[in-house]
Amino acid sequence: MSFSLFGLGRKRYKHVFFDLDRTLWDFEQNMVETLRDIFREHSLDRSIPSFNDFLESFTTHNERMWEEYRRGNLRKEILRFKRFELTLAEYGIKDVTLAKIIGDQYIEMSPLKTVLMPHTKELLAYLHGKYNLYIITNGFNEVQMVKLTRSGIADYFQRVVTSEMAGHHKPNAEAFGYSLSQANARKNESIMIGDDLAIDIVGARDFGMDQIYYNPKATPHNEKITYEVKSLLEVTEIL
Ligand SMILES: [Mg+2]
Repeated sequence: MSFSLFGLGRKRYKHVFFDLDRTLWDFEQNMVETLRDIFREHSLDRSIPSFNDFLESFTTHNERMWEEYRRGNLRKEILRFKRFELTLAEYGIKDVTLAKIIGDQYIEMSPLKTVLMPHTKELLAYLHGKYNLYIITNGFNEVQMVKLTRSGIADYFQRVVTSEMAGHHKPNAEAFGYSLSQANARKNESIMIGDDLAIDIVGARDFGMDQIYYNPKATPHNEKITYEVKSLLEVTEIL
């Protein structure tokens, strides 16, 4: 047994591919912080009882709008302000202009936020130098680069591949294929780490790569995957 001395995985992988949002960059917490800034800046407490009411309403409308967007019933430019228009209207603020201003501010401000998922920096510091590290993200070039730079983790990565560059979104095999070719990496020396079971993990598996499913809430599932962790620190036991 050639690998028994080292533990599984330790000597096999050379390239580690990370998802960004909700895997390393704390999307939810950064969203809440951005909304808090917006609530304060526009003195929304004059019409809305509390920030939590605002957050709750926004979350409801946001999710519904995203569902419409996914079904192809809504364009992104409309989604951006409509979710705020409906939130404000709930509290008697009927102001499309304000909703548009806030919609734009949200897009500009949220990538500047710097909250990372727990143990992100420890994990990257541990892996850095041992493996080549990359990002594969279904996001826009500019937005994702701002997030990485602002939160101080850009330098850990050899390359950042966005779906915009690849011309394909995860979970499509082309998105993984493009990323590996950019990294000059072979499938059997590469592993994908992500929080989205269908997009990151099943996508990578079906492409033919090993995977580590970051599942902090331990959501049950029936997929056959390579590894699963609850905390990013557990990755150091695998790699
Ligand atoms: Mg994600």
